[in-house]
Amino acid sequence: MQAEPVLVAGLIEVCRATIAENADHLCALDRVIGDGDHGTNMRRGCEAVSAEGESLSSLPFPDAVEKIGLMLVMNVGGAAGPLYGTLLMEIGRELRKNEEKADFSPVLKQAIDAVARRGRSHAGDKTLLDVLYPVHEALAKQSPLSDVARKAERSADRTAAMKAMRGRAAFLGERSIGHVDPGASSCALLTTAICRYLGEHRPQ
Ligand code: ADP
Ligand code: MG
Repeated sequence: MQAEPVLVAGLIEVCRATIAENADHLCALDRVIGDGDHGTNMRRGCEAVSAEGESLSSLPFPDAVEKIGLMLVMNVGGAAGPLYGTLLMEIGRELRKNEEKADFSPVLKQAIDAVARRGRSHAGDKTLLDVLYPVHEALAKQSPLSDVARKAERSADRTAAMKAMRGRAAFLGERSIGHVDPGASSCALLTTAICRYLGEHRPQ
């Protein structure tokens, strides 16, 4: 296991790089069923976090995660900012409460439920939750990280078949069917990047 500061800095960098590489694609997805800004929003948030990478890396892990969440709320904006922000802030808080426990999956579940409450959304509504819940399921089953990543990607693809019930895409009703949800896509990209990084830098 890497020392925590290196782990935090590495995770921040892989997330920033993944979003930067895919920002245009995320905007293109959002142009079809939203307003076209999801990639720009996420890139702005990741760059803000990355700019503070050094000071974040010096914090205890739960505090760093919670602070990253707060920065996402302030810098991503749109609908996704408060939702990703809630996810990270809750993970940070839960990790602090559960410091002695090694199992991440209940921590993630609490945080996903907080996102669902914040968005008044459920599984099947065609949002990032349709990636987060399957990711949790895979982690709870102790699936290898490569399987967790694959499940995230497939789950994002499956949002194409769903009718949007929340966010801007919900205004399109039936016309949202046939298109991948941008938030689900960013969530799968980030999950894959994180899984790959942890797979390379942390023995399972
Ligand atoms: P905005 O819709 O304000 O332009 P973004 O484009 O950055 O914000 O983010 C859109 C994404 O946010 C959607 O693709 C969806 O995954 C997610 N989203 C929007 N509203 C909700 C909600 N109420 N609950 C959960 N996720 C939501
Ligand atoms: Mg948008």
